[in-house]
Amino acid sequence: MIYFSTNKSSTPVSIKKATLEGLAPDGGLYVPSEIPKFSAQELALLEDASFCNIALAIAKKFIGGAIPPDQLSDMIESCYPFDTPLVELEQNTFIEELFCGPTLAFKDYGARFLARLTGWFAAEDDRLITVLVATSGDTGSAVAYGFQGIANTRVVLLYPSGKVSRLQEQQLTTAGNNVEALEVKGDFDDCQRLVKQAFVDPALKERLTLTSANSINISRLIPQSFYYAWAAMQLKTGYGLTHPVFSVPSGNYGNITAGVLAKLMGFPVGHFVAASNANDSVTRYLEDGRYEPHPTITTISTAMDVGDPSNFARLRYLYGNDYRAMKKEITGVAISDKATRETIIKLHNEFGYIADPHTAVGFRALEEYRKASGNRSAGVVLSTAHPAKFLEAIEETLNKKIAIPDRLQAVLERKKQATLINASYNELAGFLEHLDKH
Ligand SMILES: *Cc1c(COP(=O)(O)O)cnc(C)c1O
Repeated sequence: MIYFSTNKSSTPVSIKKATLEGLAPDGGLYVPSEIPKFSAQELALLEDASFCNIALAIAKKFIGGAIPPDQLSDMIESCYPFDTPLVELEQNTFIEELFCGPTLAFKDYGARFLARLTGWFAAEDDRLITVLVATSGDTGSAVAYGFQGIANTRVVLLYPSGKVSRLQEQQLTTAGNNVEALEVKGDFDDCQRLVKQAFVDPALKERLTLTSANSINISRLIPQSFYYAWAAMQLKTGYGLTHPVFSVPSGNYGNITAGVLAKLMGFPVGHFVAASNANDSVTRYLEDGRYEPHPTITTISTAMDVGDPSNFARLRYLYGNDYRAMKKEITGVAISDKATRETIIKLHNEFGYIADPHTAVGFRALEEYRKASGNRSAGVVLSTAHPAKFLEAIEETLNKKIAIPDRLQAVLERKKQATLINASYNELAGFLEHLDKH
């Protein structure tokens, strides 16, 4: 399989190059040259398969050739030692809990896979790869714990001092070993500016092999298709339900793009609901085909506060840049903070289910879609984070204390290890100077 850029002016590359480069040189996003298809026979064989076996079948189609099957299998087992529960909330409505990984959010699925793949490719060339990321919280923690202990890799994370939650800061600063956290006296934009500058610094390029791990990396996207395929197969074998509607709480639209990949591969997926908050650029595009990104609006579903989603170009590409084609398969629904809070309360009162704000947006959007369309298919809401990750919003909405899982408590008790720097490139360069060479 080769990968080319959505901007179509860069040379096609291997999965290795696409993974290590992240963004194509022409500024586009890498996409596979063709979407691999599963035959009816292959799908039948996967009906009783485990999560890891389904993941392996998909990974082989995208990555096969670059990594021998036995090693790819081991890699996948080490990515996903946790469950992916599909909880039946009521008849025909399910919540797929994607928060059972180490950082309690679905970004673990992509980051863990990317980390192992990067480690593999780095070892092939006997290199040490330095992953440099600016983070406002969620991505950084998944990357820190994803790369933790992976040979031939090290991570340098930049986060804005005082601008991430205590829990996020703990997750960013306690992974240890090959993960260095830099606490920057500035905001997220400063962190991003410093990282961008590092990537174009020729002196640094001489010394270190740098890569980024942001959500536009194709190797973070591919593994996110695993849990759509898994849910579709589980519904089929466990409940006799096919072609469910997936409701996806969306920010950069990477998650939903991976769902579209699963559908294009032939897994029995019906429709998608792109659930957003007040940041509704894509919702509006789906109404009239006009894309007018706007400045970010702050909401209680913070991980979805994105005005100009980075994966949207890839989503459009998959639909041939035809919004009518996209609209046939994806319905956009924007949910206000008020409706999000109402939904958190409703899920708690009616089902005894505590949903985080992002999951609540997904649930409410599914309800609204069903009402407007009359679609009676099974519905799967992707739960993108554990409620304890958004403790404050949940506790003030439900007016009660909620329990923190043990693994989170353990992270809270670890000792924070971070280097404080000013938001100046000289200070970042000075820090990187002292790292061992590649
Ligand atoms: C990142 C994130 C999202 C948004 O996912 P995208 O792939 O960017 O659309 C939703 N919910 C949570 C909790 C997240 O961390």
